[in-house]
Amino acid sequence: MQRTDLSAMSRLSADIDLLAEGKATGFVRVPHSVHRSAYGWIPIPIVRIKNGEGPSVLMQAGNHGDEWEGQIGLGNLIRALQPKDIKGRLVILPSANFPAAMEGRRTSPIDEGNLNRSFPGDAEGTITQQIAYFIEHSLLPGFDYSFDFHSGGSSLTYIPSALAARSEDPAQMKKVIGMLKAFGAPVSYIADAPIGGGGKTFTSASARQGVISMGTELGGGGLVTPGSLKVAEDGMRRVLAHIGLLQGPVPAPTQTRLTEIGGDDYYVYATDSGLFEPLVDLGAEVKKGQPAARIHFHHTPWREPEVVPFKRDGLVLCKRVPARCERGDCLFHLATDVAG
Ligand SMILES: [Zn+2]
Repeated sequence: MQRTDLSAMSRLSADIDLLAEGKATGFVRVPHSVHRSAYGWIPIPIVRIKNGEGPSVLMQAGNHGDEWEGQIGLGNLIRALQPKDIKGRLVILPSANFPAAMEGRRTSPIDEGNLNRSFPGDAEGTITQQIAYFIEHSLLPGFDYSFDFHSGGSSLTYIPSALAARSEDPAQMKKVIGMLKAFGAPVSYIADAPIGGGGKTFTSASARQGVISMGTELGGGGLVTPGSLKVAEDGMRRVLAHIGLLQGPVPAPTQTRLTEIGGDDYYVYATDSGLFEPLVDLGAEVKKGQPAARIHFHHTPWREPEVVPFKRDGLVLCKRVPARCERGDCLFHLATDVAG
């Protein structure tokens, strides 16, 4: 197999040619010298499918290792698609933070790195920083579109959603809203940078490299359901057809509810440590001041639970999963309909 080293600076390299015609499967090699393997490397699976001229698309999941719909959905897509099914180039990285995915954890067991808070990365940094550096500087340049399939992970659960970052450019905003509508998740939302994201996310990396990007929050709770996987897989095919890559028939369109997420008042955080009793479920329409949760004190169960309210009206899009919580844990976040 031909070996392509896309960046002289990155220690990582793909062992398949990511620009060639046809379908190839292989690995991004992350050199990792450890006790049991002196000259070894970590194998991050990667696939290229190319058929002539057309859009170039990077699809990624497993940015957080405990988010599964995208990882399974992209695996199914890899096995199903042949070059004749597309026009253009599709590169798929189903488990971007592979060490984290192998442990079923949000962060890497090697360095505790959160890949989606590690961009633009560091060629000489920790393993997670090196993966981020490779993705931003070696992989992303040259793509027209990127997709990053997230889910709620172990600690959160979502109404299956698709999302895009807010853009100042009206033409770009129109384009990504068209992609969100084509994907057709039950809810779509336009978001500011995620909490603590500040330029360190894959979405930010895509923007820096001039790549139009869309993401998802497909479900979560550390599990996969037939419903959330269907949203992922049907959406992937519809949006790939929408941008002109996938040829042939696609699943029937579905309606999405277009919403947005603004600042801190969209979020509800635990104000104390204890046991989280949610007072509403996903999909509830709530009002400002409405009690969102009670936090029970299991050391002193005779003490009245703390009541935490919603700070604004909205749709309950995301909810914490584990009952045990600490001050500062996100319990809920809301979305609001986009006017017009
Ligand atoms: Zn995630």
